[in-house]
Amino acid sequence: MTSALTWIGDEIQNLKAAGLYNRIRTLSSPQGAWLVVDGKKVLNFCSNNYLGLANHPKVVQAAQAAMEKYGVGPAAVRTIAGTMDLHIELEKRLAAFKGVEAAITFQSGFNANLATIPALVGKEDVIFSDELNHASIIDGCRLSGAKIVRYNHCDPQDLDKALFEERRNHPRALVVTDGVFSMDGDIAPLDQIYEVARKHDAILMVDDAHGEGVLGKGGRGIVDHYDLHGKVDIEVGTLSKAFGVVGGVVAGNGLIVEWLRQRARPFLFSSAMTVPDTAACLASLEILESSTELVDRLWENTRFFKDEMRKVGFDLGKSVTPITPVMLGEAPLAQEFSKALFEEGVFAMAIGFPTVPRGKARIRVMISAAHQQEDLERGLEIFTKVGKKLSVI
Ligand SMILES: *Cc1c(COP(=O)(O)O)cnc(C)c1O
Repeated sequence: MTSALTWIGDEIQNLKAAGLYNRIRTLSSPQGAWLVVDGKKVLNFCSNNYLGLANHPKVVQAAQAAMEKYGVGPAAVRTIAGTMDLHIELEKRLAAFKGVEAAITFQSGFNANLATIPALVGKEDVIFSDELNHASIIDGCRLSGAKIVRYNHCDPQDLDKALFEERRNHPRALVVTDGVFSMDGDIAPLDQIYEVARKHDAILMVDDAHGEGVLGKGGRGIVDHYDLHGKVDIEVGTLSKAFGVVGGVVAGNGLIVEWLRQRARPFLFSSAMTVPDTAACLASLEILESSTELVDRLWENTRFFKDEMRKVGFDLGKSVTPITPVMLGEAPLAQEFSKALFEEGVFAMAIGFPTVPRGKARIRVMISAAHQQEDLERGLEIFTKVGKKLSVI
């Protein structure tokens, strides 16, 4: 090995010494309420499979049927020969579901952010970004070359102040926020952010990755939740959380979507979503369109689990969504808690610095419509047992 690479080994050692090295567990079962993880059957409190669609029979069958007809790969980027009628159908149906003018799909939600932000603002321009926005928004902002102004988390007054100070120095301005913040489960005050963005003539973009299929009527997302139809310029979404598949979507203003088909680099230079992914997303969408049953069950499960957890004395922070942070404080305690849960048969991840601030380490429980009442009761029982053992409650 050349000495040019020795720093990597040193850095990996540092991560291990600081307890920050990712040790990735391996699943040998489908996603569902229960998983086989490293050979052990455990209750799944980790995944973003909010509606249980990742292994839904209708979704699996749709992918199989599409592969019979179209094969697997798109074989090209969208603009050359990679756009199939399935892609167009998915985009039309997603736009109709969300009640917007148009939609465009990408290979992932991460890519959707990298695609959209640099297509809308450049070096001369300015972006106002919530300080807790997702990494893919941060990277999209950096790629654009625009000036980035971070405003205080979910604080429309601070956003207003920042726009007042900076807006006039730049031809274009973009305000961007997560819809649901994935570590705390709180929701951006999008109605107030909209008013501020409009007042200062800025483009408004929301990344609704954890709100898609969760918030709003039948899972139509954060714009529906606040009844802001026609007011938010662009909604970024992911097809890899509640939709249970993989992919990204940008929905909203028709002119912006048309522009992205001309200018978005991951659209122009990276191949389309695969056939089974596209067909599976269409099937997930059909399930969402046909009934609100899964979304309703997700919220019933969420209310039940959070109420019971609070009753036994856990601190769930400021979550108002199925994302349930169990606040523990120091990172080693959170890690010990997660390990004890796993030994008892519950798979729930500890999250510490730098993903969340120091002293705010937690276990993050993800509730799903796939959970049965008895699964949640079992989870509660084990959380209570471990909580008492480790003197948290
Ligand atoms: C998960 C997430 C993404 C990434 O979505 P993928 O489809 O997994 O790439 C982007 N933004 C936010 C806010 C997310 O939570």
